[in-house]
Amino acid sequence: MPGMLYLCATPIGNLGDMTPRVVETLQNVDLIAAEDTRNSIKLLNHFGIRTSMTSYHEYNKVEKADYLVEQMRQGKNVALISDAGTPAISDPGEVLVQKCQEAGITVSSLPGPAACITALTLSGLSSRRFCFEGFLPSDKKEKAQVLAELKEESRTILIYEAPHHLVRTLGELYGALGDRRVTLCRELTKKFETILPTTIKEALSLYEQEEPRGEYVLVVEGKSLRQKEEERQASWQSMTVEEHMAFYEESGMDEKSAMKQVAKDRGVPKREIYQYLLSK
Ligand code: SAM
Repeated sequence: MPGMLYLCATPIGNLGDMTPRVVETLQNVDLIAAEDTRNSIKLLNHFGIRTSMTSYHEYNKVEKADYLVEQMRQGKNVALISDAGTPAISDPGEVLVQKCQEAGITVSSLPGPAACITALTLSGLSSRRFCFEGFLPSDKKEKAQVLAELKEESRTILIYEAPHHLVRTLGELYGALGDRRVTLCRELTKKFETILPTTIKEALSLYEQEEPRGEYVLVVEGKSLRQKEEERQASWQSMTVEEHMAFYEESGMDEKSAMKQVAKDRGVPKREIYQYLLSK
């Protein structure tokens, strides 16, 4: 019988958030794959867990996943833990899950803390529709593309950031999205937990005066329908009627619908646009 993989969520700060099921599973598996064994040993010692550990991190995840799959094929049960929170959420894990699926090995997820969900619930921003961005890409071109996509995103956006990159990221968000509401969620579940509902611009001026410390989740307001409408209005105001027509036709509208929309935008009867275009 092959073994199984257990994805075990661990606390993001407060040890009281460790679930009894995760403790029991970590005690009973044959091997724990941990992102940083030196970090995880403290957690295991705290809960009296003596199971042996092996490292599984960003830089060995492909080869190590093959090794772990082989262990499970031979009947061993493996648990995966990350430094904090839910494995596979901005943590290595995805590759191992994929390889287990390919090998027909059962994967079970033991839910628990995740910084993104904890931040969202505290943000005071809309939680009905949200998207998780994790860390923005470090590659410049890729980052520019992601920021351009986020500019149009209407759902609440969840971003992870380390303190030493926080100001740079806030500046990039300000450049791409303009000023928006943002809630800075810092040191969640820890002694110095701070929830700061503010705007991107205000956050930037705050961190000009004090150095960011601790771990952060940024919860950014999505683009509102009002903002979208204002931008649409602003974009045609600088256009000629012909350009305005071309704008809608190029986006796939037929001539009649484009004329109707142009007339609506400009607050004039459709006939007026028709006659103007005929006279050209
Ligand atoms: N797997 C984790 C999870 O489920 O949330 C995320 C791991 S990711 C490598 C680390 C990032 O998560 C940090 O840089 C920070 O953005 C966020 N994070 C983790 N713990 C946090 C905490 N206690 N407070 C605020 N942000 C936290």
